[in-house]
Amino acid sequence: MLPGPTNVPPRVMRAMLRPLMGHRGPEFKQVLSQVLSKTKKIFETKGDMFILTTSGTGATECALQNITDDGDKVIVNVNGFFSERLGDAIKAYGGTPILLNSEWGRAPKPEDFRKLLKNNPDTKAVAVVYNETSTGVTVRGLQEIGQLCSEEDVLLIVDAISILGGDKLPVDDWNVDMCVTASQKCLMCPPGLSFVSVSQKAWDKIDSKKRRRSFYLDLPMYRKFMEDGFTPFTPAVSLFYALNEACDMILEEGLQARFERHRVCAEAVYNSMQALGLGLLAEQESRSHTVAAIATPPGIEDGKLRELIRIKYGIDLGGSLEKWKGKMFRIGVMGNVGSAEIMSTVSAIASATADLGFKGNIPEALEAARKTLARLPGKLN
Ligand code: PLP
Repeated sequence: MLPGPTNVPPRVMRAMLRPLMGHRGPEFKQVLSQVLSKTKKIFETKGDMFILTTSGTGATECALQNITDDGDKVIVNVNGFFSERLGDAIKAYGGTPILLNSEWGRAPKPEDFRKLLKNNPDTKAVAVVYNETSTGVTVRGLQEIGQLCSEEDVLLIVDAISILGGDKLPVDDWNVDMCVTASQKCLMCPPGLSFVSVSQKAWDKIDSKKRRRSFYLDLPMYRKFMEDGFTPFTPAVSLFYALNEACDMILEEGLQARFERHRVCAEAVYNSMQALGLGLLAEQESRSHTVAAIATPPGIEDGKLRELIRIKYGIDLGGSLEKWKGKMFRIGVMGNVGSAEIMSTVSAIASATADLGFKGNIPEALEAARKTLARLPGKLN
């Protein structure tokens, strides 16, 4: 139950057992074309899509390096560990990050972006971490932010690493110019692949850039190789087999059903943790449907609690980062999760906190999870 890497279904694991093929031959060309068409459906985009053999940060680096010229102003929300890193990355590629700071646990609002854009009319792009994984906060105003970027003619880059495939993000409808994600979260694949979508507006900026910053992640080079149906460098072929299978599972379930399943599972986590007597760290209207941030009981450090849950109950939970170090833990609600995973996680947390001396309300916690999960579609509920 980590916020990535997540559980990979056996069907996806088995797909990787196919014999390896040359990445310049007709079979790989066919697999690549299939996964591109399927991932475009999941991103809900008709724009271009590139699949890189890197972790998620590779796709972020690719997006930023390809559009940033020296000194370009990029507005970025900072409300947790990963958005702070995004600001650092913008600086590393020569851009000038304009930080939109919010308290940890809160999301920036569209009007905050509007004000900053007004004060910085020469801004070239807005970068948003849609789901801040360190705090379990989703920027629910993303659609409005996209509308604003479209009106102001600035690019919108979205880090959707811990959310794409688990919650709504219609890339074209929401005017997202570059959307990045990774294989090991809601797409329920092993780590190792990342994704970047590119709109025509983003291509216009890329093609007008004065200086190419990257060789390995150069999008014009990817575009050129894609004309023949290939990637410029050796792709992680087995992971493409896994991705092809995972995309089939996602599309068989259907995006809306999938988002609803994540929403109900996350709600079951929130309701049960509250019933147990633990605090929720994200403000209510921004609570993520893919990662829940829970305060540890007073006097119990999260490392100790998580170790007990891992060893005694066999469940791995995410830890605390930076400002919230020691004070909270995170539950990933990503990809391959349903009643079985949520009920066992809730009972493991309830039992382990009791083992460590916390007097939580265990029956109410279990009942809150059970009742909420009854809303899941399917014949077992
Ligand atoms: N951005 C967000 C929101 C994340 O959750 C993560 C990883 O958890 C990253 C970036 C970094 O991704 P990776 O470790 O795949 O490079």
